[in-house]
Amino acid sequence: MKVIVTGGTGYIGSHTIVDLMQNGFEVVCIDNLMRSKEYALSGIEKITGTKPVFHYIDLCNKDATFDVISGHKDAVGIIHFAALKSVGESVEQPLLYYHNNVDSLLNILAAVKEFDIPNFVFSSSCSVYGNADELPVTEHTLMQKAESPYAHTKQIGEDIIRNFSKVHSSQHILLRYFNPIGAHPSSFIGEIPIDKPNNLVPYITQTAIGKMQQLTVFGDDYETRDGSCIRDYIHVCDIAHAHTLALQHLLHKENESNIEVFNLGTGMGVSVLEVIEAFEKVSGQKLNYTIGPRRAGDVVAVYADNTKAEVRLGWKCQYSLEDAMLSAWNWELKMRELGL
Ligand code: UDP
Repeated sequence: MKVIVTGGTGYIGSHTIVDLMQNGFEVVCIDNLMRSKEYALSGIEKITGTKPVFHYIDLCNKDATFDVISGHKDAVGIIHFAALKSVGESVEQPLLYYHNNVDSLLNILAAVKEFDIPNFVFSSSCSVYGNADELPVTEHTLMQKAESPYAHTKQIGEDIIRNFSKVHSSQHILLRYFNPIGAHPSSFIGEIPIDKPNNLVPYITQTAIGKMQQLTVFGDDYETRDGSCIRDYIHVCDIAHAHTLALQHLLHKENESNIEVFNLGTGMGVSVLEVIEAFEKVSGQKLNYTIGPRRAGDVVAVYADNTKAEVRLGWKCQYSLEDAMLSAWNWELKMRELGL
């Protein structure tokens, strides 16, 4: 069974391709390589023994999108990762984020309609909850105002798919990721930050290896147990496997409606300082960090109630925070070896 994965050379996309291939799917990968490297395809091949078919196109180009999807009308589904994902960058460059994340979604959905692709899985984010009234957040927790343009593009994306699902027969799943971290245990794939890393864990590993001088902890005066922000950090391979399960759920027609939402988090809130501590413990490295001001666009705390994914998808996290931090560190060391 063929699956189209957009953003497939990216961080979560590449790990998901491995999981899909290891579960018998044939994968077609689409990416514009704006924030990823073609190396991911070789990494995938090293793990699975097969290089997925790759189309280097930008989904903001509707003609190119239709061209590619028309050649894969037999696909059982599309998993749509392709998007920009940095909270801080989106505050600085809102138009880039609205244009890239919304236009590409509109084009890929137009292709779903045109070529009757039966199933669609969308990468959403816990940032859609904003500063939530209750923790942990369930899929029914009321969404608050988006704290960043990035988060807003995910709220808009969900709304677009919700409205699309009312008039189109395709089946849809929205997966709200909490904070994916870590790398494949083989160290053949992982996150490859282009230029300066934006997310916490690659910033930590790059500081430890000497690519970055010092990590700044964005704020220690939040109302949390140690003053730093709280997130739900989840191993990328756990997130990846949830996509395979989500697709199987749709293929086996186990979905209750043609649009379903699932939180993908561990259920555990962890502070920035606790992440640093876990890194130091597993790597044996002392991290050079300092406390700085709060970052615009950050929510104070968010972590998941993941019961729905566990019950309905049969999904369970396999990896701990320490496993994830160790794999992130091993990947950083591997990137040095590979010259990435
Ligand atoms: N963070 C930090 N220093 C950094 C990068 C991130 O203190 O250099 C904090 C950030 O304020 C947030 C957490 O780490 O509380 C996770 O941020 P990240 O950008 O990784 O993911 P987000 O939750 O914004 O999607």
